Amino acid sequence: MSEAIPIKMRQAEQVLGHVFGYSQFRFNQSEIIESLLSGDDALVLMPTGGGKSLCYQIPALVMDGVGVVISPLIALMQDQVSALRQLGVRAAFLNSTQSTNEQDKVRADLIAGQLDLLYISPERLMMPQMLDLFDQLSLALFAIDEAHCVSQWGHDFRKEYKQLSVLAQRFANTPRLALTATADARTREEIVGELGLTQARHFISGFDRPNIRYAITDEGNGRDELWQFLRANHPQDAGIVYCLSRKKVEETAAWLATKGRTALAYHAGLDASIRADHQARFLREEGVIMVATIAFGMGVDKPDVRFVTHLNLPKSVESYYQETGRAGRDGTPANAWMHYSLRDVVLQRQWLEQSDAGEMQKQVQRQKLEHLLDLCEMVTCRRQALLGYFGDQLDEPCGNCDNCLHPPQTWDATLEAQWALSAIFRTGQRFGAVYITNVLIGKEDERITANNHDQLKVFGLGENLGAVAWRSILRQLVAQGLIMIDAERYNALCLTEKARPVLRSEQTVHLRKLTKKSAKTRKAKTKPPEGIAPQDEELWVALKAKRTELAKAQGLPPYVIFHDTTLRQLATQKPSRLEQLDEISGIGEKKRERYGAVFLEVIAGFS
Ligand code: ADP
Ligand code: ZN
Repeated sequence: MSEAIPIKMRQAEQVLGHVFGYSQFRFNQSEIIESLLSGDDALVLMPTGGGKSLCYQIPALVMDGVGVVISPLIALMQDQVSALRQLGVRAAFLNSTQSTNEQDKVRADLIAGQLDLLYISPERLMMPQMLDLFDQLSLALFAIDEAHCVSQWGHDFRKEYKQLSVLAQRFANTPRLALTATADARTREEIVGELGLTQARHFISGFDRPNIRYAITDEGNGRDELWQFLRANHPQDAGIVYCLSRKKVEETAAWLATKGRTALAYHAGLDASIRADHQARFLREEGVIMVATIAFGMGVDKPDVRFVTHLNLPKSVESYYQETGRAGRDGTPANAWMHYSLRDVVLQRQWLEQSDAGEMQKQVQRQKLEHLLDLCEMVTCRRQALLGYFGDQLDEPCGNCDNCLHPPQTWDATLEAQWALSAIFRTGQRFGAVYITNVLIGKEDERITANNHDQLKVFGLGENLGAVAWRSILRQLVAQGLIMIDAERYNALCLTEKARPVLRSEQTVHLRKLTKKSAKTRKAKTKPPEGIAPQDEELWVALKAKRTELAKAQGLPPYVIFHDTTLRQLATQKPSRLEQLDEISGIGEKKRERYGAVFLEVIAGFS
């Protein structure tokens, strides 16, 4: 290591405190920064909210020349740059949304050496004139954000990302940093291969997001459960509700609006201008619920999303983790809540089988769905399973998921499983879950009578359990692999090899007990904001109002002024002098100068 590195690291620490207002580095931020300062390439894997941005922002400020950040998310560049400017950092962006004049200004600043950070879209960067311009500049580093977009297999593939391999040859002396929150080893290999990062040091952080509480349920219709969940936990918070279809997005948003919440729809079928408007409102206003398909969310780095809920089964464990990871980026408690139904499973199977994908890929997809169902139906710690899925081990149950907090009861359902399996077998493995349920509860139904299935021995055997319980039993048997859904034959349920020993009474079956609704429905009392003592609540509200006022005046999202974490510390510590603001996380020199006095005044009004 050259002697200059320790000096530069000290500078980096100073930047962390003076510019960003943070007291220490997180995860392996410090090692990553040191590696870049030494001129090495790096591959960084950090969970969402882990603090990837500082890993390139700080070196860009310490090193000579401009740090170039390549991001596919044009819509977000503006906010990222505004946030940096609030800190007094000389940052700008270049993308297709700007006028020629604006672009010329940025180019001029670049040439004059007036910028520390430039955000740019990959397609713009790859333009020949742009690369020529870069040849003439002093460059600190290239940061390739959302680097998994280079992966053909992933769901965020961007073809322009492939061309970024050019950087390795053309700017061989400029350190490059690829960043992603996507876990699996295959994607990582692709990033290294496609971006020419064979020499890069790898920095892999654990994937745990301990502040997120996971809960998954299949009870009821989903809607009522969601409403109870929101009333009890998030009466005023911002969050995301994911749905599978555009129609359900629209319906759910409208329904939440009738309940008095600000709920906006987002899906690929909406006009681009409406989407942009809804996204901007979600970022800028407080307490907005975004009801969306998966079209929404990549890179939305709003730090105070307090909940992410799914009203349908997501696509895979990976997408579930990525989507729920958008909650609680500020590190304070957040909820990930999912409701799913057997219908979701059936639909996903159907799509999978009907897709144009090759047999190999279908096989992979089937397996992914199985893993997801396992996660849904399991009775032990969900976090252990989630992290285990990504090859990250958690030794103890987490204590912060539904199964840890309210361990589910199981029961010996061998007999009931046998009835269900037998009903499927006796009816010829040709019918779906509704039909089989009707046979089990002995429902008089024209089709059943016409098929003489009311004559079967199992007909009506399960009457007193009721349809809801049977649906849950069938789904759990699907999850345990005793029953298969045949998407090519109208989603008929059929038996697998695993069903045999159960039918022969050689193996027992244990299932999750349905909790009684009344027990589950906790009283929906409104909680005070997390971490705020009741006597500080008014101050907290006043601080937030001040923040909104300041943000509105500048056309910025409130969190660009201060994060909730910062406001919370102000409300609890109640500083009265400017110097005391140095103790507060998220207040660097520029922000103290700009907003210190205003917020102290609010606090003074309450003391
Ligand atoms: P991501 O890894 O998802 O890109 P960000 O870079 O947006 O995460 O960081 C998430 C949040 O954590 C941001 O609000 C950021 O300001 C904050 N943060 C990052 N590093 C630190 C640190 N060392 N100390 C305190 N807060 C930090
Ligand atoms: Zn747990």
